[in-house]
Amino acid sequence: MKLVIIGNGIAGVSLARMVADAAPETDIALYSSEPYAYYPRPKLISLLAGTVPADKMPAFAPDWYAKRGIVNHLGQHVAEIRPSDHEIVLDDGGKVSYDSLVLATGAHAWVPPTPGVDLAHVYTLRTLADALALRDKASEGGDAVALGGGLLGLDSCAALLTTGIAITIVEMMPHLLPRQLDAEGAAVLQSLLEQRGLAFITGDVAAAIEGDGQVERVRLKGGPVLDADLVLISAGVRANIALAQQAGLTCDRGIVVNERLLTSAEDVYAIGDCAEFAGRVWGIIPAATAQARIAAAQITGDTDAIYTDIVPSTTLKVSGIDLSSSGDVNPEDPEAQQLRLADADAGTYKKLVLRDGKLVGAIVLGERQDVRTLDQLMARGIDLSAHVDRLLDPEFDLASLLA
Ligand SMILES: Cc1cc2nc3c(=O)[nH]c(=O)nc-3n(C[C@H](O)[C@H](O)[C@H](O)COP(=O)(O)OP(=O)(O)OC[C@H]3O[C@@H](n4cnc5c(N)ncnc54)[C@H](O)[C@@H]3O)c2cc1C
Repeated sequence: MKLVIIGNGIAGVSLARMVADAAPETDIALYSSEPYAYYPRPKLISLLAGTVPADKMPAFAPDWYAKRGIVNHLGQHVAEIRPSDHEIVLDDGGKVSYDSLVLATGAHAWVPPTPGVDLAHVYTLRTLADALALRDKASEGGDAVALGGGLLGLDSCAALLTTGIAITIVEMMPHLLPRQLDAEGAAVLQSLLEQRGLAFITGDVAAAIEGDGQVERVRLKGGPVLDADLVLISAGVRANIALAQQAGLTCDRGIVVNERLLTSAEDVYAIGDCAEFAGRVWGIIPAATAQARIAAAQITGDTDAIYTDIVPSTTLKVSGIDLSSSGDVNPEDPEAQQLRLADADAGTYKKLVLRDGKLVGAIVLGERQDVRTLDQLMARGIDLSAHVDRLLDPEFDLASLLA
């Protein structure tokens, strides 16, 4: 059986490893536009912070692929897929046939159509090359303007502070991390980040990035003009669906897959940041590895393996600040019960969301204790109705509810 994988991110390498383990006789070829052996993208934050050098980025020893019989073609961009002929076409025109094809093409940073985004020293962060260029420029000092106060924007900016550059983060929404936090929790987080040296403007967006060939300033819609030697755009990601789209596969925001991770084309699977299941593209590692597991099982003959969606869970890596956000943290239905405990002086905030007595969402900011317990209470759907009054009591032993 010949398996071709396009993509060398966590989805592609996880699937390659699982297939190699379960069916060592499989002929596995993996193609990747990026020239590097697999590195975890979260580690790019450590590279920005200067705590991990570029040569320590790869996750595996150089012989990792060969040891598993995986033939990797790093730096080889796939130009086209031809599902009706069961083959792919490389940039140089070479054709490669397959029995099963897995699209693990990931995502790219989305750049809003703001005037000036093509000036020199406007960056996004997705790849090792992006991170190296960004850290180099930030190390020259001056002022940076970061557009986007989401998870990636905050993590990147907190890391870049180590270069000494002054950073202002501009967030369009009225508060930071609108998907993971509510207004009260976001205020606690913003104050913690301000103490570290970041500056914020919320509820505003860039109208234009200006300069003579290179960035000099950012003009905001609300009026302020900010000096800038570099601009970092963290405005979200978009799935890489071009290959699939050109081949006529069903795509929406991602490449549409069923519970077997099969696309609309025979023997073609999609997993990770490029895949859309039940109307959702997650863009996070737990979804990519869970999908890789099911696709690998399908490819190696376990056709009963079925993908069910995950509960999203997020942690922030801003050094010294623990933030965990899981499930539905901003419910809109009045039936949802919301419990909150805030201590701005201590920099802590906790919020639990219950529906029918069961935990469906949790924010824990400023501490790590109870995070795993809360995730398990949520995953196991344990009825907490009898304990609602005590769930936020620091003296209460939440873990006892798992027994
Ligand atoms: C800085 C940063 C920090 C992050 N932190 C977290 C975190 O803490 N937790 C979390 O869950 N997620 C995090 N993420 C998101 C996470 O990295 C992604 O969910 C994950 O990388 C998705 O893996 P993937 O394999 O689907 O795609 P990708 O990692 O994007 O890999 C896609 C691969 O496909 C290749 N490719 C694409 N098109 C082609 C083509 N035509 N031909 C050949 N090769 C092609 C690319 O070169 C690449 O190798 C972070 C992302 C970034 C950028």
